[in-house]
Amino acid sequence: MRRVHVVGMGLAGLAAALDLVERPDLSVQLHEATSRAGGRVRSFEDRRLGTLVDNGNHLVLSGNRAVFDHARRIGTVDLLELAETAALPFVDLATGARWTLRLPDGPADLFAGTWAVPPGTGAGLARDLARLLAAGRAATVARALGRAPDHPAMRLLWEPLSLAVLNAPPGEGAAAALRAVLLRSALRGGRASRPVTMPSGLGPTLVDPARDLLQRRGAALRTGRRLTGLRGDPGRPAEALVFRGGEVPIAPGDAAILALPAEAAARILGGPGPGAGRPILNAHFRLPAEAASLSPPILGLTGGLAQWVFRRGDVLSVTVSAADAAAARPPGEVLAQLRGEVETALGAPLAPVAARLLTEHAATFAATPAAMAARLPMRTRWPNVVLAGDHVAGPLPATIEGALRSGRAAARAI
Ligand SMILES: Cc1cc2nc3c(=O)[nH]c(=O)nc-3n(C[C@H](O)[C@H](O)[C@H](O)COP(=O)(O)OP(=O)(O)OC[C@H]3O[C@@H](n4cnc5c(N)ncnc54)[C@H](O)[C@@H]3O)c2cc1C
Repeated sequence: MRRVHVVGMGLAGLAAALDLVERPDLSVQLHEATSRAGGRVRSFEDRRLGTLVDNGNHLVLSGNRAVFDHARRIGTVDLLELAETAALPFVDLATGARWTLRLPDGPADLFAGTWAVPPGTGAGLARDLARLLAAGRAATVARALGRAPDHPAMRLLWEPLSLAVLNAPPGEGAAAALRAVLLRSALRGGRASRPVTMPSGLGPTLVDPARDLLQRRGAALRTGRRLTGLRGDPGRPAEALVFRGGEVPIAPGDAAILALPAEAAARILGGPGPGAGRPILNAHFRLPAEAASLSPPILGLTGGLAQWVFRRGDVLSVTVSAADAAAARPPGEVLAQLRGEVETALGAPLAPVAARLLTEHAATFAATPAAMAARLPMRTRWPNVVLAGDHVAGPLPATIEGALRSGRAAARAI
């Protein structure tokens, strides 16, 4: 049997391996630097909070087909909780305004502007969508839209979307990458834009059952193995995977998928890549049940530091993307500010039982036009080695959907 090595057990590596184990002529070996699968998608029992938390809120929409396919084949699709409508409530901390971003079912209605939109933005949204659709690869969201930063449409709609999707504000984020996400969600109408939450946690829903299924199908999983390089000249098949502590030969006819984060991939393969990941902060507040129930399952916030609140059971988790400045501040101060903002939004004191601030320092690359252009392609200079991950060249910014698609594309290439 030919052997395929998959290096990196994030969602891209798991998705690739799940395809490869279906092939009777292949044996699959996974290698992971840390002690666990999942990479940047992680759930863990937090001692201070006394409950299971995710490393960070992950916004997934009903149009994310690869996420649903993944959950279906690992038997967890019932753990994906689909909101009944494509509606996201928002509060503007600066003015106290409240509205619900509610997408109509049909894309035609989207352009007709007959949807509930942030105050003061209504008339211009069809124009904004048209400009985004026409934007070139070098354009930022702000340049494509051509609006002043304090225009209500920028502040209340495009800025939160840009931060959530691109991990970059409109002045930096790539219009083409935001468009790619909208084309797979909002621009397909409300049916493709319903928020999806994972009440059982990211790990139990997307990671652990995938790892267990791979083991049952005979894949070998090795943890604590950090890849540092490849042996062999570019242009010819690589002869070995070089790990810290030893080499694993790649026999003639065998192959490898490197499902590594952007920086590790660029270091090992040589090449620019989209650069260092940017921080995303998540503050988790465990609350008395009645306080937690004041929040809807997902709440968008503008005009402050906090950007999204996700409710899971009695825990409210608050996200700050593009969090370079906040990540440099004392954690206690950031927690206090986020708590105050959520109290303002919900109109009640929270009285948390416990709180935890989690900073993912290299959460995702900021999807700027330069970073999108610098991504590495799936094919490498070694014909038996392909690259997978949320950062591999393609239309999408760094997302779960992009990581899963990339993993499956790499498996097809093998
Ligand atoms: C806080 C946060 C919030 C996010 N929010 C969202 C969101 O709202 N919606 C969304 O869709 N996406 C979101 N994302 C992005 C999403 O989590 C990622 O795009 C996705 O998980 C990337 O998967 P991956 O397999 O490409 O990479 P990774 O998950 O990084 O997997 C790579 C694996 O390779 C391992 N590895 C690294 N170096 C080596 C080495 N040298 N040798 C061997 N193994 C190695 C790592 O340990 C890891 O297990 C968020 C990410 C974070 C961190």
